[in-house]
Amino acid sequence: MTVMVPSKTPATTSAPPSPSRPAEPAPPPRSEPFPPSPGRRALDAALYQLDRAADHLRLDDGLRAMLATPRRSLTVSVPVRREDGRMEVVHGYRVQHNVSRGPAKGGIRFHPGTDLHEVTALAMLMTWKCALVGIPYGGAKGGVAVDPGAMTSRELERVTRRYVNEILPIIGPEKDIPAPDVGTDEQTMAWIMDTYSVNTGYSVPGVVTGKPTTLGGSLGRAGATARGVQIAALTALGRDPEGVTVAVQGFGKVGALTALYLAESGCRVVAISDATGAVTRASGLDVAALRAHVAETGGVYGFRDADPLGHGELLELDVDLLVPAALEGVITAGNAPRVRARLVVEGANGPVTPEADEVLADAGVTVVPDILANAGGVIVSYLEWVQNMQAYAWGELEVELKLRELMEQAFGEVRAHAAGHGRTLREAAHAIGVERVAQAHQVRGLYP
Ligand code: NAD
Repeated sequence: MTVMVPSKTPATTSAPPSPSRPAEPAPPPRSEPFPPSPGRRALDAALYQLDRAADHLRLDDGLRAMLATPRRSLTVSVPVRREDGRMEVVHGYRVQHNVSRGPAKGGIRFHPGTDLHEVTALAMLMTWKCALVGIPYGGAKGGVAVDPGAMTSRELERVTRRYVNEILPIIGPEKDIPAPDVGTDEQTMAWIMDTYSVNTGYSVPGVVTGKPTTLGGSLGRAGATARGVQIAALTALGRDPEGVTVAVQGFGKVGALTALYLAESGCRVVAISDATGAVTRASGLDVAALRAHVAETGGVYGFRDADPLGHGELLELDVDLLVPAALEGVITAGNAPRVRARLVVEGANGPVTPEADEVLADAGVTVVPDILANAGGVIVSYLEWVQNMQAYAWGELEVELKLRELMEQAFGEVRAHAAGHGRTLREAAHAIGVERVAQAHQVRGLYP
């Protein structure tokens, strides 16, 4: 196991410098500078946010270094047999950023661009998110650098099982509990649960969340992240949502249901994009019909009852509410001045860079940060795990009420902190999350 491997890219950053950055081996000398990878930028952004919170909380250097450094980072190589008989080797990662408040918790991402930096950044965000919403977990994340869209189901099953086999020693219901993220779904979780259970000798449903209900998945988990985004968006709006115009970037597990729930609330969803393209309709898109189109064709591109739109244009539309729900780093210093929405609710993790955050704050745009806005997923994952550990299942209404209660409580705390300290919602959310983790470290003390 390693703690931070040297990056393929130099540790340059577009974000402001980060005193909390953990010690890293020097990058190899290079004759020409080249831009940091998206993963490196995501990690720089996460470290920058930690720094801001640590400054605010006046944390000492030792604690800062501890919070900036993942507790455990595992890099594995995953040999995969393709359908034509070829054997390929892909890289996989599992990072447990912090376990001071409970077992590590976080999704597994299948995406060709994922790397150790990105997974580390996302694991760190999970730590603050779990602390912020008051669930007893630390933060983790996993990733495999594959393109699931270019693989058959059998290839994906082989990748999943082999990857899980490699990370098996560090996961488990009391240690680290994976969940779905970009490019993975209920089926992936079922394969993980089976692989872990076969190795253990008995069924262990609590090793993953976001499973099919037939294996102990929770009612309400599939729509939980989107339900949380909806609650966050409507709370932030603070007015009748009827006719509120919305643009949603990403039409996967988070984006599609967020668009649907917001439309059901009375909002007018006027633009939606995914990897295949973007579509718009001023009078409001029929989100259910668009979901059916995507199920049939694989993407939003070519949807009949809408006009095509440029990918970048969606982020700059004159709408009331913008929900980036695809990948990180999409709103940057470059396009932030052109964002016209007055409210941005982060369905995705890290979609707004620190530089863009400042531009939006200066322009009076409210940003509901990822660790609050998309926490519905991990909240219901926690509820699923609690049900699994008790071998008991709750009804959907009970799950949704608990989700709502935790989301609204966290939102209220963030809003009160922001108002009391004259800070943005992101600064407030990070201050609360980081403080809770720091307190856990302080009262536990250092072993030995
Ligand atoms: P997903 O794989 O189900 O969907 C991702 C979507 O983004 C797809 O529709 C894809 O086509 C689209 N996309 C990719 N590139 C795009 C681009 N350039 N422009 C527009 N759309 C693009 O993933 P997901 O689970 O919905 O996750 C989306 C985001 O939400 C990620 O940042 C993830 O970390 C975060 N998140 C997910 C969960 C969860 O429960 N799944 C929970 C919290 C946060």
